[in-house]
Amino acid sequence: MMQLKQLNVSTDHERVVECRDGSAGYHGIAAIHSTTRGPAVGGTRVWAYESFDAALIDALRLSRGMSFKSAMAGLPFGGGKAVIIADNRRINRGEIFRAHGRFIHTFHGRFITGEDVGTTPEDMAIVRFETPHVAGLAEKSGDPSPHTAHGVFRAMQAAVAFKWKTDNFLHRTIAIQGCGHVGYQLAIKLHRAGASMIVADIDPENAQRVRNATGAAIIAPETIFDAPAEIFAPCALGGILNDETIPRLHASIVCGAANNQLSEDRHGSALEARGILYVPDYVANAGGIINGAREVTSPEMKHSTPSVEAIYDTTTEVLELAREKGIPPSQAADEIANSRLRLK
Ligand code: NAD
Repeated sequence: MMQLKQLNVSTDHERVVECRDGSAGYHGIAAIHSTTRGPAVGGTRVWAYESFDAALIDALRLSRGMSFKSAMAGLPFGGGKAVIIADNRRINRGEIFRAHGRFIHTFHGRFITGEDVGTTPEDMAIVRFETPHVAGLAEKSGDPSPHTAHGVFRAMQAAVAFKWKTDNFLHRTIAIQGCGHVGYQLAIKLHRAGASMIVADIDPENAQRVRNATGAAIIAPETIFDAPAEIFAPCALGGILNDETIPRLHASIVCGAANNQLSEDRHGSALEARGILYVPDYVANAGGIINGAREVTSPEMKHSTPSVEAIYDTTTEVLELAREKGIPPSQAADEIANSRLRLK
């Protein structure tokens, strides 16, 4: 039996709901940040959170990031996010994602979900049995990660051009944290563009796969912040730019796919103070949602939806605004996104 509980935990969010389905062993949260620009769109994350509060905070931050990401990319969507509190290796996927689909269906299309960390297009196909409000299916736009990787690559190119006046990667060294779906494909693109890589992953097989494909050097996960690289690409989890890690960075640019890379907003200023150019995560990692938008928006809109290539220009716009106003790029991006959220 599905049990829903409204959570009054944030004035910034339109709706936050906890769902339990005991018979399926399901426990999830859906956070809808904004539907001002359109339905809230955001993936479903499966993670063995250490506490309910940790899961809730993740859902709240990720859904806000989704609103900003869609607004920044010019998409007609708001932001939402779902988290399922579970150990990904032990769950009965059939039961869990059927239950999740029933939960998503209670939002009647105000929230459309898709893949995120810990979920696959196959999981979304199970969700689809219960609700049409799901994107990222294999037979439709499919795995978003190649598009996300391409967007990060284009954002990185724009940052390199902004900093060094040429967007050439030849002989540059990039440290990549996380060699999963996005990290792997980003590494391949950078390798083809003539860059060298230093990579780390807590899963040795994933790091080895990147090494086999690109000749990257592998280092221990805890030392990736000390890597002698010009660019740092966080492609694992969020919160990794903080008081402890920022002083260790050798890189002049940070640009990667992970959501919520700044542990707190003030860490945008901390990067700036060290002369490190930060490409806000939701600007760089919008490729997946831009591609998936084709699935969600009406066919007539197909031709007017922005392209992943536009991430290059959006990144330049954010970095130029930051320079002009003398503020960190994270703040410049928030200003642009907020103004778009209010205008619609
Ligand atoms: P993934 O789960 O495929 O890969 C993440 C990788 O990071 C895994 O290989 C994992 O072992 C590794 N990892 C976890 N903790 C680590 C640590 N402490 N040090 C080093 N490696 C670690 O996920 P993904 O799809 O590649 O996404 C990567 C990040 O980008 C996530 O934060 C995700 O939210 C974000 N993102 C992904 C997409 C997408 O299209 N997949 C879109 C937008 C944002």
